[in-house]
Amino acid sequence: AKALRSGGACFYQAEMDASVRVRRRLAEDLRGALAMGQLRLFYQPQVELATGRRTVHEALMRWRHPMRGFVSPAEFIPLAEESGLILTLGEWALRTACAAAAADPRMGRVAVNLSPLQFMQPGLPQAIATILAETGLPPGRLELEITESTLMQDQDRATVMVGQIRALGVQVAMDDFGTGYSSLGTLRAFSFDKIKLDRSFLREIGSSRQAMTILRAVLAIGQGLGVPVLAEGVETEEQRALLRAEGCAEAQGYLFGEPLPPEELGLRGSAAA
Ligand code: C2E
Ligand code: CA
Ligand code: CA
Ligand code: CA
Repeated sequence: AKALRSGGACFYQAEMDASVRVRRRLAEDLRGALAMGQLRLFYQPQVELATGRRTVHEALMRWRHPMRGFVSPAEFIPLAEESGLILTLGEWALRTACAAAAADPRMGRVAVNLSPLQFMQPGLPQAIATILAETGLPPGRLELEITESTLMQDQDRATVMVGQIRALGVQVAMDDFGTGYSSLGTLRAFSFDKIKLDRSFLREIGSSRQAMTILRAVLAIGQGLGVPVLAEGVETEEQRALLRAEGCAEAQGYLFGEPLPPEELGLRGSAAA
């Protein structure tokens, strides 16, 4: 930090320019990625803790860049959001996931992430209905994941949108619960089919009494509202046992399976089960 104060500001500026250039370049490459077949969906299971049954698979986007290899969605989704390209990518993801689920009943329900920009499109419910009709997927087998912060951007519109989506018979899950600034407010304002507790809570549970207290409170709220709570980021047997003991209904994480391409789905599951 000291070095920065003495003329380091220049160096810092140069570094920022470089990272801006890298991001710009990446954003350009992303524009052609879909047409070039560089994008795929992987699927990660969600399990019912009491039975171990895989009830849902979440679709997660993967970009294989010809020079850079796999680029994390945490890096390229925000770029797509900024440029508006997410509308194209999001619709592709929705159609691809619905088609995959329709073709393979072993997938159960398929969960697709909705970006903030997608969620603001007035035509979204109609687009979902069209994709369901085209792929032949029953609405009850589609689940859409929406983050708290997406919902908070315009609460009135969001309430209408969630209502319209649920009226189609599609399930809506609140993603990354507990990371927004008004988690309780969001719960009060919206009706959901599932609450996905952000994995940051689970990470701290072994070491922090506060985290444990909050987990119990969220489970109690879910129970009171009649909404199942899913714990994200379950990596260890200890976490699984603890969640079961506390009455958590569902979980997702590397312990049960990492995101995989569709052709590898079910193979390990059926061998293990
Ligand atoms: P998310 O929706 O919260 O997805 C969960 C992320 O946690 C995924 O990262 C998943 O691979 C990872 N994960 C799952 N289990 C574990 C675990 O046990 N431990 C740890 N450390 N991580 C685990 P991924 O695939 O890199 O995606 C990152 C984020 O990018 C997603 O977070 C989501 O916000 C966004 N994203 C991915 N695909 C899409 C998409 O198709 N559309 C939109 N709008 N966003 C997407
Ligand atoms: Ca998600
Ligand atoms: Ca999440
Ligand atoms: Ca997340």
